[in-house]
Amino acid sequence: MKTGGRRGSSNIEDRRGQGPRVGGPIALGGGGLGIIGIILFLLLGGDPGSLLGDGGTSSGVQQGGSSGYAGTAQEEELADFVSVVLADTEEVWGEIFEQQGMTYEDPTLVLYTGSVQSACGLSSAAVGPFYCPGDQKLYIDLSFYNELQNQFEAPGDFAMAYVVAHEVGHHVQTLLGISDEMAKVRQRVSGEAYNKYSVAMELQADYLAGVWAKHEQEKGYLESGDFEEAIRAASAVGDDTIQRRARGYVVPDSFTHGTSEQRMYWFKRGYQYGDLDHGDTFTELGL
Ligand SMILES: [Zn+2]
Repeated sequence: MKTGGRRGSSNIEDRRGQGPRVGGPIALGGGGLGIIGIILFLLLGGDPGSLLGDGGTSSGVQQGGSSGYAGTAQEEELADFVSVVLADTEEVWGEIFEQQGMTYEDPTLVLYTGSVQSACGLSSAAVGPFYCPGDQKLYIDLSFYNELQNQFEAPGDFAMAYVVAHEVGHHVQTLLGISDEMAKVRQRVSGEAYNKYSVAMELQADYLAGVWAKHEQEKGYLESGDFEEAIRAASAVGDDTIQRRARGYVVPDSFTHGTSEQRMYWFKRGYQYGDLDHGDTFTELGL
């Protein structure tokens, strides 16, 4: 993917190098350091704007950002890449929502290492990237990029872009009220019946990732091989593989995701149409 000269998102919350802080993040609306932490943070010269997730004035992820974490050059490059991808999703979804007479609200992307506390509970990086509707944030441990390359055998920058776009797809579903509907369904159907809804939900996120990729292509941002990288990743990140990596933590985004074929099909379909009108995975699955 071509990223040169493009802005990164200001909606990045850098929690890398910090352990999970139980009870803090939700009450504080994103900072989660607690009062002592805030005082220490300010004493250390931190910007309270970035602490509260306002992003300060930075574009992209600052080296050794609000968390004080400084990764390897490769990690920082990846953080910058993810930041540009997030900014691109803000732009594309902002345009699509505007065309529909709606307003897109940017989600926050939390970078973390190891494990993280969200409104969806405590999660280990073993579950892979996820989106939590409760706080409208995406959670990504960048080491997943290496997993994609090595364990899932889906290398390439656009494989990672697909992963981010899929999680953003869940955010779009939240803004469209689909996540709320799902929460209601969950209360009235059995676990087994709910799995089918879950598959529809996941495949729709793949469709929405495809919609985004189509707009990237139209803007001239795709390079040769990018589409194939995304398809390979869509095929590789089956639900079973991700669940196997779980280690007993709460797993917010580990429902049944659909088969490799289904995931590739819906991503391609989103890429084909590039709109909100052809992604009714629920009807397609007979729901
Ligand atoms: Zn998902």
